[in-house]
Amino acid sequence: MNAGQSANEHHFTLSERMNILSAGTKYDSCNQGAVCHAFGPDGRCIQLYKTLLTNSCAGECTYCPNRCGRESTKASLSPEEIAKITWSFYRRNAVEGLFLSSGIIGDAEKTAEKQLEVATLLRDQGFTGYIHMRMMPGTPKHLLEEIADYANKFGVNAETTNSVNYSEICPNFDYNNDVLQRLQWTRDLINKKRKEVGYGGKIIGANDTQFVVGALSEPDRDIVRTVDNFMDKYELRRPYFMSFDPVTATPLENNDPSPAWREIRLYQTSFLLKDYGLKSFDFDAVYDDSGFLSDHDPKLLIAQAHPERFPVDINSASMAELLLVPGIGPVGARRIVQSRPLLSEKELLRLGVVLSRARPYIEINGGRQLKLASFMGAGA
Ligand code: SF4
Repeated sequence: MNAGQSANEHHFTLSERMNILSAGTKYDSCNQGAVCHAFGPDGRCIQLYKTLLTNSCAGECTYCPNRCGRESTKASLSPEEIAKITWSFYRRNAVEGLFLSSGIIGDAEKTAEKQLEVATLLRDQGFTGYIHMRMMPGTPKHLLEEIADYANKFGVNAETTNSVNYSEICPNFDYNNDVLQRLQWTRDLINKKRKEVGYGGKIIGANDTQFVVGALSEPDRDIVRTVDNFMDKYELRRPYFMSFDPVTATPLENNDPSPAWREIRLYQTSFLLKDYGLKSFDFDAVYDDSGFLSDHDPKLLIAQAHPERFPVDINSASMAELLLVPGIGPVGARRIVQSRPLLSEKELLRLGVVLSRARPYIEINGGRQLKLASFMGAGA
């Protein structure tokens, strides 16, 4: 039996345990399945082998299929097995790295030691792929420090926006100490490392966290404000969102599932906060009376709520102004600024602008299609 393996699981084959543990990551980033998507440092979407060390957990989070005391099929993988599987996927170009989480094996310290073992095994064998570690609430600082040498991204799940909510759904842990303190340490460890080693070929991690959306009645406004605050305070690179889906034999089994679109809209708001320079108060115009987003593009709604900001002139608008235009993303805005002067919609199309969305919000030199000579001031 593996360390952490319970007596009722020894008969499973390796492939059966892999399937059980990939499905067991339901509440840890992305969809079910052995491969999940994550965002690399450049914002590129990358594929990772996603697994738990074990789906047995000492915790009792009210929404979680792996919670202590819930009857379910239990399985675990040893650090050696996870390293081997990751290598085998990686060598076949099926994944670019590993996403590793776990149920709590005894306590957060023992769990983190096992996670560290996986990361050490991989890196010592020359693994240069991406490693994303989801750490347990309460992980000791010295282990976070060691993880920082191996992981490209690591963090503790916040799950919700405040300590009262947290104690309701995660009764075994303390929001301020086991989560926020860890996010702060992770930020400090990453910054310390950045100062010491710079970027030259070394791994500089990023702080991350995740929210369970819809397990509580907290509105999107609270979640967006918390994400904005975490980005400023803990230098969070990307938050993850996981839609609540009731699990049988858990305290929340009779609650309604959260609609999938809510998770998508929250991701969109987080991109707008991170990559478009918006702040949480920019979304105040688009919530309903209870503080919830609707199933519409939040950037478009913000633009519609602020007609005084438009149209912006493609040839004179600042980056910040361009980024508020529906249909223009960070890459498109950069290209526009670098390619000026622009004289036609055709040119905008070539730069990746989604004209059907952007058209009502832009003008080109006051709306007139000027000849190059006149635009350059060479005469009418
Ligand atoms: S700590 Fe909570 S959310 Fe994580 S596996 Fe255990 S019960 Fe589930």
